[in-house]
Amino acid sequence: MSSLLKIDDLVVEHRTPGRPVVRAVAGASLEVRAGEVVGLVGESGCGKSTLARAVVGLNRAASGSISFEGTPVTPLGLRRRTMTGVQMVFQDPYASLNPRRRVGDQIADGLRVAGDATSSPADLLERVGLPREFASRHPHEFSGGQRQRIAIARALAARPRLLIGDEPISALDASAQSQVATLMRDLAVSSGAGLLFISHDLSVVRLIADRIAVMYLGRIVEVGDTAEVWAEPRHPYTQALLGAIPKPDGMGVLPAELPGDVPDPADPPQGCRFHPRCPLVMDVCRVKEPEFGPVACWLHEPS
Ligand code: SF4
Repeated sequence: MSSLLKIDDLVVEHRTPGRPVVRAVAGASLEVRAGEVVGLVGESGCGKSTLARAVVGLNRAASGSISFEGTPVTPLGLRRRTMTGVQMVFQDPYASLNPRRRVGDQIADGLRVAGDATSSPADLLERVGLPREFASRHPHEFSGGQRQRIAIARALAARPRLLIGDEPISALDASAQSQVATLMRDLAVSSGAGLLFISHDLSVVRLIADRIAVMYLGRIVEVGDTAEVWAEPRHPYTQALLGAIPKPDGMGVLPAELPGDVPDPADPPQGCRFHPRCPLVMDVCRVKEPEFGPVACWLHEPS
């Protein structure tokens, strides 16, 4: 599979006057290949959404690089790329659709971006499992799951090579969650696109992702094939995440909190960021950050 999105040592900072700078993304590296689904997981506030928003130009990188299809994503190129190659589906389908416009008109915007004169909004609705006649209705006439399908149809209309879902199922009923996640996977993969799927629902990520990336306090701490990470998580944080899932079959969402206090991202711990919460902490962990992959932990230092 060819590389589609490559994020290398990305840093994104949040600056508020009079307050310390927060490095929401603190040197994260990640790759998504064409036709591949990558699930990005981690506790709330770990920087997942900030990373995704940097990819589409909604957050500016302080350092590091993002390249899409081999071309560096520069500020000048962001808007054009965002409008064509990369589309994002947001958490809240209520907020991401314009309540005053018919859904068919909103989907038609994407078709215009792609220069697609042969497809109709009704065709896109059919692809996401909705009746064609919904095109003439307004967003308030639909359920949350239906609205998210409409948002996906609008994103697909622009023929993206990369689809990003930023917690796209967390506002939906349980019954709609896996249906929408599976739909995103099927539509992305069948068109040869990549999918970066951000979620705190590990059971859904396990269901749809080829690879899983685990993020902690602004950094990717483990990346691997989903089945392998699930069977044998290597980073102590990944082990804690999977171990905290309440159901023995591995189904369930991340707990609201793992044991130990989450450090302040404005003042992260020296050394390994996970060391204050790690049951396997060693002396080296307190002074030196493990800066290697695919498992950023001194217990798994490459030889
Ligand atoms: Fe734990 Fe040390 Fe590994 Fe960090 S580097 S996860 S503190 S063992």
